[in-house]
Amino acid sequence: MLDAVLILLAALLFAGLTVLWLARRRRRKLGMPAGALVYQDALRRNDETLYSARLHLAGRPDHIVRQGRDYIPVEVKTGRTPDYPYPNQVMQLVAYCALVEERYGARPPHGILLFEETGAQFVVEFTRERERQLHAILAEMRACFFAADVPRSHNNARQCAACGYRDICTERLA
Ligand code: SF4
Repeated sequence: MLDAVLILLAALLFAGLTVLWLARRRRRKLGMPAGALVYQDALRRNDETLYSARLHLAGRPDHIVRQGRDYIPVEVKTGRTPDYPYPNQVMQLVAYCALVEERYGARPPHGILLFEETGAQFVVEFTRERERQLHAILAEMRACFFAADVPRSHNNARQCAACGYRDICTERLA
């Protein structure tokens, strides 16, 4: 009986160490910024969703790294590395910065966009101007959410083909 318990404990310890090792190896491979990892949306750690009642906004950055008194959200992207981050990627980081500020009570100076394949990193500054843009976009989204009808804002059939609302959308192109 004691042997079985010891074997079980050893197996659990081994599994735990393997998960830790995999997490560290991935972090090294990704070229994660220095600092203590305080939040991770992966590898079973599965930290809680960040939520702002003030902004009516929820989100889960891939990682949050603490650097001194700063908490830096890090979003990891797969696929092609662009020359510059797309506007939607920039706004995603700005939204995470706003959520991080509310959660930890400290305004992050920036977020980091990290591309897995090439290891390229972009620093997205969390400026007051970008924060204003975020508020404007959220207000527009809320207005659309409660509107009876919202016109299509693009002519991209591929976007419709991959859209989760195409079954009920009267404006779909595919
Ligand atoms: S299916 Fe409708 S909601 Fe989806 S992307 Fe196309 S137009 Fe927009």
